[in-house]
Parts: sequence; C-alpha cells; structure tokens
Amino acid sequence: MPEGHTVHRLARTFAELFAGQVLAVSSPQGRFTAGAALLDGSRLVASRAWGKQLFLGFADASARPEPGGAPSVPPDDDLRWLRVHLGLYGAWTFAGDGSSAVVHAIGAPRKRIGERDSIPAGPLEPLAPQGEEAWTPPAPRGAVRVRLVGAHAVADLTGPTACEVVSADEVRAVEARLGPDPIRDDPAPAGGPDRFVAAVRRSRTSVGQLLMNQDVIAGVGNIYRAEVLFRAGLDPLTAGRDVPAETLRGVWDDLVVLMRDGAATGAIVTTRPQDRLPDDGAHPGAPVRTGTVRQNTDGSAGSVPADQAFYVYHRDGLPCRVCGTPVLMKELAARKLYWCPTCQR
Ligand SMILES: [Zn+2]
Repeated sequence: MPEGHTVHRLARTFAELFAGQVLAVSSPQGRFTAGAALLDGSRLVASRAWGKQLFLGFADASARPEPGGAPSVPPDDDLRWLRVHLGLYGAWTFAGDGSSAVVHAIGAPRKRIGERDSIPAGPLEPLAPQGEEAWTPPAPRGAVRVRLVGAHAVADLTGPTACEVVSADEVRAVEARLGPDPIRDDPAPAGGPDRFVAAVRRSRTSVGQLLMNQDVIAGVGNIYRAEVLFRAGLDPLTAGRDVPAETLRGVWDDLVVLMRDGAATGAIVTTRPQDRLPDDGAHPGAPVRTGTVRQNTDGSAGSVPADQAFYVYHRDGLPCRVCGTPVLMKELAARKLYWCPTCQR
C-alpha cells in the first residue's frame, strides 16, 4: 500500500499533467460507468491529498480561467469530486506523448504507482516521436476502473479500494474523520500535532498500532511506522497512554521531516549516512535480502539503495544497524511490525 508521500506526489502529478484541462473520463472496465459519466468532459481544477486519500475536483468545462488573468478556481462547493483510495492493490498507471510537460511529471511512461513504489525519477522515453500528429493514448491494460485522458497524458486507475464521485460536503466529512497529515502544511484545521498527541495518549492500544490508524495520524504506513519508532527509540508495543507527550511530539516532528522528504524525492530514506551499510555482504552469515524492497529511485544517480534506506523495515533477522541485535518482526493487527528490541525500549 502506498504511504502518504506517494499520494501527495500523485496529487501533484495530476495537477502538473491535467490542471485546467477538459478531460475525457471513462471506465473501460465498466464498473464506474455512471461515475465517469458525471465527470466526462469537465475540467480538472483541484487536486489534493490528505493522508492516503486523493481528491480530484472537477468544474464545468465552461469554467475556464481568463486568459492572462489569475486562474479562477470555483469554490469547493461548486465542484464534483473524485475520491480515490488505492488500498492494498490499487495503482495509477500513466502514459504521455513525450512532450516536455509530461517528462518531468511522470518520469517513465506506464509506471505503476502502487504497493512499493512512487512516481519515478529519471528520463522519459517518449512513447512516440513528437510531431504534428495527434497523440493516441495506449489501450487500457487490465481492469481499468477509471481512465482520464488529457491533451498530453493518460492516467489509468486499477484495483482501488475506493473510487467515487462525491460532493464537497462528503469530501469535508472524510477529511474531518482523518487525523492530521504531517505532509500537509495546513495541519491546524485538523489540530496538527496536538490532536495526534492527544489521540495517542488517551488510548491503551499500542503506539505501533495507533500510528497506522488513519484517524489518529493520516498517511503513515508500515514503513514510516517502523522507522519513526526506531528513530525515537520507542518500543512499538508500548501502550499509547504510556508514551510521554514530549516523545510523541518528537515522533510528529520527525515524520514531518521524513514524509516531506519522501514527497519531494519519491523515496523513503530514514537512515543517517553513517548507518548505511548495505545488507548484502556487510554482515557475513546474514541472510541475503536483496530485492525484497524496491523503490523507483533505485539505480538513480545519488539515490540511497533500498537495502541501505531503512533501519528495521523488512530487516528481520539482520543485525540492527546501530547495536547489532537481530531485528525482530511480528504480526500486529494483520500487518508486519519490525523493531530492534535493544534500541527500542
Ligand atoms: Zn538496535
């Protein structure tokens, strides 16, 4: 499941690829035909993320920004909203015509945004030579729930947990339920760190489980959960109410830095440079884990390889990068939890 940083990158990508354009919206798979019909031929004017929820706002095609003037985006209440949650299996696939506007936004064509990746960095290989001929989007692959086609790009959604057209009131209701999102720079309406700290401290549930609860904090997934608790030296099984408020504030502040970095780069990197020994060969006798975790930045110049990017995530059985104790793993609420029993007490 993508973590919040990926959904924020998706929101940005939709803005870069499609903002202001009238889109052809369809449901090649047929399961979203009525919803697609409500949006088909309307103009994408808003694109935003809150945690793992993506909201795309559509206005009537006639709501065109004045040439030369400031773009006049209608108020939220005047828009129809597409709400998408990718869940465990959902993915967005992008393709473009190779025009420069598309190059920077999506990197390589037809990359899937899903389980363990995010929007790739790197050069774009144009799908077709640039020329005067109109661009034809590639045929949909797989069960495409919704397809958005703009002037230079296409976005296909497969396998989402949620995909529906909603009103502004319904958007607000979803947002009101969500905890604060460390990536958003307007956390105040949701109470920001205070609301997060209070929600954890009134619960007997383990802090490891609470961090994955989107009503407590929005956007944190399995990787950020494991890594931020390691960096805080906090035992994930500690009951929320037993964690000092000051420690939780530190966790929030760390997530702001880590997740905004993830949103900017597309990769999750939580290790400090001095702790980055590769797992492969650095620890004789340790199980070789190459390839178990991949990020789209792998192999890009200057990127931190996936096997050096994390302290504990997916490193069970390997020595802790700081103390050498084997990293532990257990199932907690049906998700795998990783931690160092020595560093995290
Ligand atoms: Zn350790």
